[in-house]
Order: sequence, then structure tokens, then C-alpha cells
Amino acid sequence: MPALPFTNTPITNTPVTSTPVSSTPNERPLAELLPLPGSQEPLRGPTPAGTDWQRELANAVRDPDELCRLLALDPGLAVDARRAAGDFHLLVPRGFIARMRPGDPRDPLLLQVLPRPAERDQVAGFSADPLQEQQALAAPGLVHKYAGRVLLLTTGGCAINCRYCFRREFPYAESGASQAGIETALAAIAGDTSIHEVILSGGDPLLLDDVRLATLVARLESMPHIRRLRIHSRLPIVLPSRVTPALIEMLASTRLTCVVVVHANHPAELDSTVEAAISRLAEARVMLLNQAVLLAGVNDSVAVLRALSERLIDLQIVPYYLHLLDRVQGTAAFEVDDASGRSLHEQLRTVLPGYAVPRLAREVPGEPAKVWLG
Ligand code: SF4
Repeated sequence: MPALPFTNTPITNTPVTSTPVSSTPNERPLAELLPLPGSQEPLRGPTPAGTDWQRELANAVRDPDELCRLLALDPGLAVDARRAAGDFHLLVPRGFIARMRPGDPRDPLLLQVLPRPAERDQVAGFSADPLQEQQALAAPGLVHKYAGRVLLLTTGGCAINCRYCFRREFPYAESGASQAGIETALAAIAGDTSIHEVILSGGDPLLLDDVRLATLVARLESMPHIRRLRIHSRLPIVLPSRVTPALIEMLASTRLTCVVVVHANHPAELDSTVEAAISRLAEARVMLLNQAVLLAGVNDSVAVLRALSERLIDLQIVPYYLHLLDRVQGTAAFEVDDASGRSLHEQLRTVLPGYAVPRLAREVPGEPAKVWLG
């Protein structure tokens, strides 16, 4: 039986492991593919061994003082950030910082990652699990909300800590995204022939290294009723070096139809390094979609949303969803109300061709599908 590739790393931490290079995933013993002891701890200090993306991840900025120094920002912002962050600490790759405007505390990329005092406010209507995902757990680490498809929580780790994150409070360890839980989750998928699509989520599923990912995909391929693999990941945007030749080879060679949903919120995120990564993904002939979150101060204008869609289309990524914010505790400062969201979406329809207009959507617990507002 192939190894189980999950980690139970909480989203507040970043696993960085070296990539095994010998043998095929199916041949590797379980113990070799498990996360290395201590891998839950973000690496600091000297550059570790590993692939380029793992080194970049290990060297991501975690210190608010350093971020403010790099961007020539008021050091007082760092003091506020340290107080505001709580357990959901600052985490941002240097390549993403390079796309921010120095000296601008309102930079739309900076706002997505810099903890702000408002995160500590208790706001009515905002809670730890507004989507009630824990109630939708069909097995450990397996969310089954919609017909025909399931969401597999592969890891709690991410390469970036987005302040608006819908799973920033999600108790990964308690929800079974773990070595012990994965076999149960895979058995549940294998035993339910109504499931045709598996969505890898997290955290960020591309934080699994190529061998772990290939192992998981091989397990899914062995189930005849599984036809599609969907990967939701922000790594091609925030850490484009993660799009490795081995990843492309895996996506190109699987019998499963592959859909990769990237998460970009602002056109400034889509620089030449992202463009190169997206070109590599396009070579694997995967379907490329984007989902964005409508965020106050970041992309809540027609001009920005239009520029985002046009840039995505240039990169051959279909703008798929524009999500209204999930009302997670600590994220209220990012909320755009429904009426404003609808108005922006209406205006967007007048300046873009239909194929470039994302669906305006919200997830509502208990509904059989996402609710479309436009
Ligand atoms: S990449 Fe997605 S899952 Fe990870 S912190 Fe950002 S919003 Fe959350």
C-alpha cells in the first residue's frame, strides 16, 4: 500500500522537508514518506537542503520588523503587527514582497499579509467556523458538502498567511488531516462511487512535496470512479518556483482530468515569475481557473477587478469565482457588503467580455452548492 502523504501541520506553521528522490511513490515505504520529525516547525536561520521552492519557503519573512525594513515602512506598523497576529503569525515569501510598493502602507499586497490591530476586535457575525466545515466532515480530513465531489484537507500549512484566510481558525489536528486520518478518508472515497472529483485543499496542497503528491494522486487514480482531480493552491502565485518539472510531469501523465485553481486577488500579484509558472502549468494541459476574494482596500474597485481579469485572461487563466468574504473571526476589516459587491460585479459586466467576468459567489452552510449573487 503506498504511503500516506498528509501532514497535520497547523496553518500557522510551515513544513519544510527535503524531497526524497529515489524510487517511485508507489514503491516507497510508509515511514519514508511521512513528515520528518520536527517538520511542523518553520525553519529559520541557515538555508536548508532541499529544492528551490523549499529553500525559498524556509527563507520567507516571518518577522514584522524585517518586513517593514524591507519596504521602508514605519516601524510602528511592526509593533502593531506583532500584537495583532496572535497564533496566526506573519508569513510571506520574499518574491511576493518584491511585488509590493516600498513606502506604501496601503499597498494591496501588503494589506493581505500584514497583521493589523483590527484583527483582535470581536465583531458580531464573525466566528471561527462560519462555513461549518467541521459538521461536513465525512471522515477525518474529508469534507463532503456537495454532490459528486469531496474536499480532501491535505495539510494545514501554507506558504503565506493571508489575513483574510477562511481557515485561519480551523482546527486541522482535531479534524483528522493527519497520517492516521488519511487512510480512513481514502477508504471513504474508495467506497463511495458517487464521488467523481477529489479536490485537494488545505492549507495549501502544493506544500506537499512532489513525491507525497504523486503518491496521493496514484492512490486516487487506482479508484475507477474518480475522474477528476482539482487542486486549489495559491503557491503558483506566491511561490511560483513550486511549479517544478516533476509536478508538471505528474499533472501531464495522470489519467485524471486535472483542474488547477489558483488564487490571485490583485493584478500586481501576477508578475513575470508567475507568468512563467503558469506557462509551465499550461504545458501540462491542465484547466486553469482563478478564484479571488473581494477584499476591502485590496481589490474593491472596478478598475482593479477589470485589470485582474484582463491579466488572468492574458495568462490563459479563466476568472472563475469572485468570492464574498467568509465571515471568519479577525477578518471583518476586509468585508465588502453584498450590495457593494453586486454593484461592482454589475459594473464589471459592462467593461469585460462575458468569459472574463467571474461569478460573484458566497458559500452558505447547508446549501447544496455555492450561492451565486451575479
Ligand atoms: S493561501 Fe489560502 S488557505 Fe493559505 S492562508 Fe491564504 S487564504 Fe488561507
